Amino acid sequence: MSRFADTIAALATPTGVAALAVIRVSGPDTRRIAGAIGLAAEPRRVRRVDYRAVGGKLLDETLVTFFAGPRSYTGEDALEISAHGNPFIAQRILEDLLARGCRAAEPGEFTQRAFLNGKMDLSQAEAVMDLIHARSERALAAAHQQLRGALGRRMAALIDALLGVLARVEAYIDFPEEDLPPEDRRALAAEIARIAAETGQLLATSHYGELLREGIKTVIVGAPNVGKSSLLNRLVGRDRALVSAEPGTTRDFIEERIMVGPHCLRIIDTAGLNASPAPLEKLGMEKTRERLDEADLLLVMVDATRPEALPAELLARMASPTSLTIFNKSDLAPAGAAAGRQFPPELETVAVSALTGAGISELVARITARADGLQPVSGDEVIAINARHAHALQEAKAGLQRALAKLNEPATTPDELLASDLRSALAALGEITGKIDNERMLDQLFASFCIGK
Ligand code: GDP
Repeated sequence: MSRFADTIAALATPTGVAALAVIRVSGPDTRRIAGAIGLAAEPRRVRRVDYRAVGGKLLDETLVTFFAGPRSYTGEDALEISAHGNPFIAQRILEDLLARGCRAAEPGEFTQRAFLNGKMDLSQAEAVMDLIHARSERALAAAHQQLRGALGRRMAALIDALLGVLARVEAYIDFPEEDLPPEDRRALAAEIARIAAETGQLLATSHYGELLREGIKTVIVGAPNVGKSSLLNRLVGRDRALVSAEPGTTRDFIEERIMVGPHCLRIIDTAGLNASPAPLEKLGMEKTRERLDEADLLLVMVDATRPEALPAELLARMASPTSLTIFNKSDLAPAGAAAGRQFPPELETVAVSALTGAGISELVARITARADGLQPVSGDEVIAINARHAHALQEAKAGLQRALAKLNEPATTPDELLASDLRSALAALGEITGKIDNERMLDQLFASFCIGK
């Protein structure tokens, strides 16, 4: 049933005082241990157990569930022990489990066993991590889809198609007196180009994957004193940025992760862009320009009472679908009245008052719409690959392109070389779901998990 000889145990909840602490056990000794602590090993039934240590001392009143492999998270016999959330209790129970023959689990070892026992592919194991760390509703939705095999299915289809191509090429290698006929070469080239294009489509979701995992880089920019810090504080809901009536106080960057609708934004407040800066401000402005170039979303802020204070270089950026123009201080001046002369009428703007909160909910709705626009369209399911997937897909794409180049050469290259390019592309695609056995890569990957997962 399981390929592992030892039984592992770990605390699955954070250490510290809490309502509950959950301890996990998995491995071949589980059933024996369950019996020893007085649990009739009836699968998937929660049982109350007075947990007694080896010497008979009562450690806690616990609730214990036994899972019979393979119908468990790891695919092995497993226990979940819910104790009272006192770190001393959890520690005593863990020590007792070690005394009974368990080994303390390494980080990610439960999920590693689930993968190695065939309960999930590698992309699903990574989705477990994404699910735990998701910072927003959108990130959760993507992790759920990956956990349910969305990426795995796309990879399986690509691998099948590539295997088909490889089989046809290898059929000719088996008959050295024959070369691939031209019409076959054309058909194969078309199929490889299709696979390469789909690989490219998946690759294109990599940036969105980063946005989901890290948050959308949102830069607030505008002339000094337009109210950037005040808006940041409004959005964050507490006094994080230094608000001052003196222009140019925000010289450094303040970064804050906040939820806006279903999105997680990494809000970056910048030093203001000033048309005639004081020497001390110049450095900050240089950094501001760098941040502008990296931004996924740009919030350009204008003081509705002094719209002329807007530096010219910002105007060019404001028409982009990933930027939003905000007229602040609507409590003092009707937005647009003064602005009409300077800005093109088709420019989408939002009037807010960072001071009173007026217009903030409208602003949140507009930001949400723009953030939604960052999601690449790729089939019905949300695919958002991670850096490891991107690396593998790039390798696969390179192999496919080398194969294509060989097929398109008029002087025929040996079919063996073509097959070798296709095989390297296949191996790279296989890494995403872990269909190849690469122990070093696996150890590295699971070591980034937390203990008890
Ligand atoms: P920053 O330099 O762009 O970060 O601007 P601050 O957030 O420090 O604000 C500059 C000044 O404008 C402060 O005195 C704020 O209280 C004021 N302020 C900011 N937003 C508003 C607003 O919506 N209405 C009014 N009346 N004052 C505001």
